[in-house]
Amino acid sequence: MTSEHTDTTQPGATEQDRLIIFDTTLRDGEQAPGCSMTLREKLRVGGALAELGVDVIEAGFPAASPGDFEAVQRLAEEIEGPVICGLARCQEQDIERATAALAPARRKRLHVFVATSAIHREYKLNMARQEILKRAVESVQMARQHFDDVEFSAEDAARTELDFLTEIVTAAIDAGATTVNIPDTVGYTAPAEFLAVFKHLREHVPNIDQAILSVHCHNDLGMAVANSLAAVQGGARQIECTINGIGERAGNCSLEEVVMAVRTRNDLFPYATGIDTTRLYPLSRMVSNVTGLHVQRNKAIVGENAFAHEAGIHQHGMLQHSETYEIMRPQDVGISRTNLVLGKHSGRHALRERICDLGFDLDEDQVSQVFAEFKKLADTKKEVFDSDIEALVLHGSVHGAGPWVLEEMHVSAGTGRSSTASVRLRSDEGRVVEEAAVAAGPVEAVFTALELATGISPTLKDFDIRSVSVGEDAQGDVSVTVTHDDRLYRGQGLDPDVIEASAKAFLHALNRIARSQAMNPAPANPDARRGAA
Ligand code: MN
Repeated sequence: MTSEHTDTTQPGATEQDRLIIFDTTLRDGEQAPGCSMTLREKLRVGGALAELGVDVIEAGFPAASPGDFEAVQRLAEEIEGPVICGLARCQEQDIERATAALAPARRKRLHVFVATSAIHREYKLNMARQEILKRAVESVQMARQHFDDVEFSAEDAARTELDFLTEIVTAAIDAGATTVNIPDTVGYTAPAEFLAVFKHLREHVPNIDQAILSVHCHNDLGMAVANSLAAVQGGARQIECTINGIGERAGNCSLEEVVMAVRTRNDLFPYATGIDTTRLYPLSRMVSNVTGLHVQRNKAIVGENAFAHEAGIHQHGMLQHSETYEIMRPQDVGISRTNLVLGKHSGRHALRERICDLGFDLDEDQVSQVFAEFKKLADTKKEVFDSDIEALVLHGSVHGAGPWVLEEMHVSAGTGRSSTASVRLRSDEGRVVEEAAVAAGPVEAVFTALELATGISPTLKDFDIRSVSVGEDAQGDVSVTVTHDDRLYRGQGLDPDVIEASAKAFLHALNRIARSQAMNPAPANPDARRGAA
């Protein structure tokens, strides 16, 4: 390596005090139910992860489906900066697929994994220890033929016998693995136990200095971040994590939490990361918006309440000296909340400034689009808050691709009677369709009318509504998840009228189905995308 800067993702070259942030939002996060992203969304999130400053982006599992392959390939082509990583089982076909998908990347890594715990050996793989060891060694060697940067994961390492884990880690490094990952795949370990595992490996793996030790934790017992930090104290120098902690079941180690823990308690964790923490909050909002998975209000770092002080005694202390109750400043994580409220007399310039302060980088066309939406909103809503503007920006970037536009809707509902809804849609070819429906409730009536008008009848899997800001005139933010032909689609809608927000969200999903029917006839089964470290 001849570059002037140190490549911190390689062993030996890593400064002792540097932590590698390995983001797996697009792989482990994306494979969780309800979190699947379209190619366009993955590219947006990938670009934002690069700007955030993550060292490695795990872009996907190319052998899982043609969609995954294409996503990894496009991310490899388009994302500059971070190492682009692809996941593969310890199998020849997987490694070949991942090698092909990663070919365009400027900096690339192949990540191979095999399960090592007794329960996985016996019930999943039906293989003995020595067979698994041989498979791991052969796969790492095969990967090294195409890659200088190879990561090996011992799946379910936290439940693997220490002597076998030590043996397989030693063999993987001997075979050429440059990073060795120790996952707590099922979220079972606890900090003191995991610290001991990492210490044991540092003491008993003779070639441990030739690789970087990595940690990958799941949050089934709420300890993913704590366990990852314990691993760092035990010698791990790479943390695998996701934005908002999304991931299988209870999720993965949350990137924003672990990064802010290291930064805030640098006395305990004296390491640096390459993360621009002021981008954490905007990226959290983007991932929440793209996946439709809302962040809980009291979530650490990026929840709505994370920096809110309501109790009178706290407010008094805060006014005297903010550190009495605040260990981090909201602006450090990119929350630039103010009491400034915009209204219908606010101009384009004021709006653009707010958008910029909130951490978004929009071009003039996008600002104009948001400004038009803002003016409409300010007509129906007295005060427009930061959260309203955020919602307009995020929704603006996911909408507007047709083919159907909602021109008009009427709903009638009340106690003790059925609800009726009528809708008028216009297609991008100028066709106008009107339909009406009767149902038990207003949302169901509107959805049925929209199904009749578009001729698409998906199955509704999830309907979620929340308020964007405070007050009776707050906007409703609706997300719906539907399935159609075994594929998952999401839609989002924003409006002060919650029925209209619901209609927009459902139509957004119907539009996605219509577009994918028109251009993408090959259905991918989301349930086929299972497993992995
Ligand atoms: Mn995982």
